[in-house]
Amino acid sequence: MTTHVTIIGAGLGGLTLARVLHLHGIAATVYEAEPSPTARSQGGLLDIHDHNGLPALRAADLEDEFRGLVLEGRQAIRALAPDGTVLLDQPDDGTGGRPEVQRGELRRILLASLPPGTVRWGHKVSGTRPLGEGRHEVTFADGATTTTSLLVGADGAWSRVRPLLTGATPEYSGISYVETYLLDADTRHPATAKAVGGGGFFALVPGKGIQAHRESGDTLHTYVALRKPQEWFADIDFSDAAAATTRIAREFDGWAPEITALITEADTAPVLRPISALPAGLRWDRVPGVTLLGDAAHLVMPNGEGANLAMYDAAQLGDALAAHPHDTETALAEYEHAMFARSVAEAADAVELHELMYGPDAPNGLIDMITGGE
Ligand SMILES: Cc1cc2nc3c(=O)[nH]c(=O)nc-3n(C[C@H](O)[C@H](O)[C@H](O)COP(=O)(O)OP(=O)(O)OC[C@H]3O[C@@H](n4cnc5c(N)ncnc54)[C@H](O)[C@@H]3O)c2cc1C
Repeated sequence: MTTHVTIIGAGLGGLTLARVLHLHGIAATVYEAEPSPTARSQGGLLDIHDHNGLPALRAADLEDEFRGLVLEGRQAIRALAPDGTVLLDQPDDGTGGRPEVQRGELRRILLASLPPGTVRWGHKVSGTRPLGEGRHEVTFADGATTTTSLLVGADGAWSRVRPLLTGATPEYSGISYVETYLLDADTRHPATAKAVGGGGFFALVPGKGIQAHRESGDTLHTYVALRKPQEWFADIDFSDAAAATTRIAREFDGWAPEITALITEADTAPVLRPISALPAGLRWDRVPGVTLLGDAAHLVMPNGEGANLAMYDAAQLGDALAAHPHDTETALAEYEHAMFARSVAEAADAVELHELMYGPDAPNGLIDMITGGE
């Protein structure tokens, strides 16, 4: 294949595609808005799933490197009631099939696996336009342009490539997360560290809850979830960390202090993360020379699958392009056909999970799901 593939976005999806194409001898350039690989903390633990993330890493020939990153014991899961009563305490017995790694570390091994110069940092795409016959022009924030006969939008929720295919945009899902961190928790916040345990943690009631995860070392990473309209959050001044912390913590008045310490004792300013989603089952008619993968194609409420699916999309697309070296359109049609079917299932799964987590019966359905091994 002589076509050079232009990928927008150096997240896990875009990088996995570049890597799989490289293994197939297909050249690609990745344009990334961020100025450097270290510009932003990539934060967060990801559990990599046997049915999508792992096969993608195999397609990228990075399984061994990935295994070296797995944090042992992080598949444990604990749930507490607001008063601190333990509802669930499931240790990591090594059979979970969902090994946990730091997202930034995964991105690092993907970057290291690419030929030098593959990623062009500091290239924020401001617009795209069709030139006809499957060619597209990409414009960057500094006014520079590039043209391509194969454009892949791997640029996440607010994709600048998506408008070439569909007018759909993400809409607020009705829930927002507030992100905080506790550092050196074992020594500085032992009661909270014990409550969270060795892996994942949740304390949920209808409409709100606190989820946390033990990351590398004894850092506790927390998402406080509140089902509230965006206007409610707009009244909180998140540039005033103390005031924002107090306001968010007030929603959890009366909860056990070892749980609320995840908010009130945070070592970082609270960061608001409104959760948006694309319309469920979004699809589009085939447009020559362009496609999407990952969140750009099928953003859903976080359900633990998004990064896994972005990598899986990428591996599938890379393999399809390699299988049809002289017929890009057949490759894109095959890829999109399967990807649309996956997206429908993912959207339904995400809605169901959020209902179990924050719906009227929370957290019983979620605990049943976990203990029932579903
Ligand atoms: C709070 C939260 C928790 C989550 N937890 C999990 C989890 O535990 N497990 C899981 O599998 N998934 C999780 N997800 C979902 C996961 O983060 C996403 O699904 C995944 O990152 C999608 O990967 P991507 O490569 O498609 O996009 P992204 O990771 O968003 O990468 C897109 C890249 O494109 C770049 N970019 C964006 N716009 C432009 C532009 N205009 N020009 C150039 N570059 C651009 C960005 O800087 C970024 O590097 C979570 C999501 C959220 C919000």
